[in-house]
Amino acid sequence: MASLSPCSTHAGESLGGRLPAPLQPLAAVAMNLWWSWQPEASALFEAVDPECWERSGHNPVKLLRDVSPVRFEQLSRDAGVVSRAGELARRLEEELARPFGTAGPANSARPVAFLCAEYGLHASLPIYSGGLGVLAGDVLKQASDSGLPMVGVGLFYRRGFFHQRLDRAGWQHEWWSRADPEELPLRLEVDARGAPRLVKVTLRGHPVRAQVWHCQVGRVPLFLLDTDVPGNTPVDRWITSTLYVGDRTFRVMQYAVLAMGGLRALRALGIDPAIVHLNEGHAALAALELARESVRSGVAFERALAEARQRVVFTTHTPVAAGNEHYGQQEILELLGHLPEELGIDQRNFLRLARPPDEDSFGVTELALRTSRSANAVSARHGEVARSMWRNLEVPITHVTNGVHAPSWIAPELQTLLDRWLPPAWRMGDAGAWAAVEGIPDAELWGVRNALRARLVQFVRGKAVSDRLCRGEPIPYAEAAARTFDPQVLTLGFARRVAAYKRLDLLIHDAGRALALLQGKRRLQFIISGKAHPSDEGAKRLVQRIFELKDAAGARGSVAFLEDYDLEIAHQLVAGCDVWINLPRAPLEASGTSGMKAALNGGLNLSVLDGWWPEAYDGSNGWALPVEGAQDEQGQDARDATRLYELLEREVVPAFHERDPAGIPVGWVRRIKASLRMAGARFTTARMMSEYVQSVYTLHDSPS
Ligand SMILES: *Cc1c(COP(=O)(O)O)cnc(C)c1O
Repeated sequence: MASLSPCSTHAGESLGGRLPAPLQPLAAVAMNLWWSWQPEASALFEAVDPECWERSGHNPVKLLRDVSPVRFEQLSRDAGVVSRAGELARRLEEELARPFGTAGPANSARPVAFLCAEYGLHASLPIYSGGLGVLAGDVLKQASDSGLPMVGVGLFYRRGFFHQRLDRAGWQHEWWSRADPEELPLRLEVDARGAPRLVKVTLRGHPVRAQVWHCQVGRVPLFLLDTDVPGNTPVDRWITSTLYVGDRTFRVMQYAVLAMGGLRALRALGIDPAIVHLNEGHAALAALELARESVRSGVAFERALAEARQRVVFTTHTPVAAGNEHYGQQEILELLGHLPEELGIDQRNFLRLARPPDEDSFGVTELALRTSRSANAVSARHGEVARSMWRNLEVPITHVTNGVHAPSWIAPELQTLLDRWLPPAWRMGDAGAWAAVEGIPDAELWGVRNALRARLVQFVRGKAVSDRLCRGEPIPYAEAAARTFDPQVLTLGFARRVAAYKRLDLLIHDAGRALALLQGKRRLQFIISGKAHPSDEGAKRLVQRIFELKDAAGARGSVAFLEDYDLEIAHQLVAGCDVWINLPRAPLEASGTSGMKAALNGGLNLSVLDGWWPEAYDGSNGWALPVEGAQDEQGQDARDATRLYELLEREVVPAFHERDPAGIPVGWVRRIKASLRMAGARFTTARMMSEYVQSVYTLHDSPS
């Protein structure tokens, strides 16, 4: 089917125009994000010009625009580079030619439309904030790998990713880099005459136009709506400027553009989705948009909505009450006041669809729950929490536990080892294939772990020096960062969004005890990273306290705070850390996926039994902190901190140092193998998406 196959890429063609003929295959590879989960592709782009590759932020489109013609001439005579480029482009073409399968009622003619406010596909495409976006990116990559007929829909933000800078006092400042479509793998959707295809959404009583960017993710297209077009008012052009903008009016307008504009864009492109998958509530207006179409063609609203509902499925991600947004009814009517009439209903019936049982407001999650045929949480634990949270609405809520895209998240060094020892089906999450982990010689697995830790230490040293220089620290102090951190030392990682419930500060709850750990006979080192929301002063104070720990007497050299947590830093950390720490206040972690990424790289989790961890932890594959039913938060924090220190002192540190004559920590490696098998067989998007196909996308007769 035409709409699922990538169209010719204008930007790609002009990019190709810069390259000598033998190197032109590079442009095709750069314009499809498929490259981002082929380790050979990154290696090749780096070989084109290592400095330029660094400067570009690992963005191949920018790289190919910036490299000098002289360098290209030189490379075009390098037979090795030319043949690697040709081989990659050939593999990409082969991949694009593979047919799609089916997913319940969906097939390539009528795919699943996946709607999400953010996508974390690669650090160079800055339209994500955190876990939700990274998950959505992994979903599209997996759909491509599995031949699952899917199209993605999102928004293109010029200010889609905020960067963190700390000053010398540890106070967070933010800045936004401006995303430039010219430097990204994006192609504008145009009509037959070559004019941008525009969709219109009525907001505040007048039409707002949006153009549509096409981003190809392997075999799966992602359509990104963008209201920054001539002809819109300045305010309307600003609607899609910033991801999770603070202003509520802008937020609702974004949600309307995403859901209504998104489905209209698909229609304009000839795509009629069999299923619309709402990934979190932001696109909650989607069912009403589907119903509106039917009403226009004469169907009564009740029937139109019932039919629309049969096509919509909803995944909720937020067990934190404040994360489920509510708006004033009047606020909504001012923005979307024309909608009731277009749906053929009065205002009261319209507002009722989103009304919580006990108050006159407009709940985004309530609307999504009432207008979708199925709802699911993202872990077994979260399923229980969500059912209790939404019990007043009397809608059934199941769960599909999250996973991560293994080819994206497993470090290349470990992928090579797995390729050697496991049957090829490991890439598809085949549990049997992962059992072969037991056969990997301990020395080889430990060798890879040492290499990954060494690579991380290298990265931390380099980044710590430049972070310090950037803050204006004295030169000797900046230079010292290049010598601290040891590739042999037990390395613990803790990287999260800094929100109160993530309890990043539990580590320093008892600063004296934390320091004693760091000064103990057996060394260990901490790497911490995390951003506070720009308007969250409390979280910023927390960042500051954690930042100060690294300067406490005795801690110097054993604690690093990496500024500006992003996908790039996440990749480095989950690959190189020996232990991945997670201390959420239960039950507020819906799933958590960074721990899965760490486990897939042979890191061991030390986590509160919340989110995905109760499903994964079995006593042999990491460490767990129990969850109490207790209500006193401060008491719980103190007890959890004590348990954390005890676990580290009594179990984690000794296990890491218990070596056989060859220097291998045999017990530790046994845990790594158990953890790898667990994560590979059960916590990848391969398993997750096949579960979505079987139990969510496929329509089952509802139990009566
Ligand atoms: C995986 C990932 C997350 C989600 O991690 P949690 O375990 O949910 O905290 C957030 N940010 C980035 C950059 C990630 O890669």
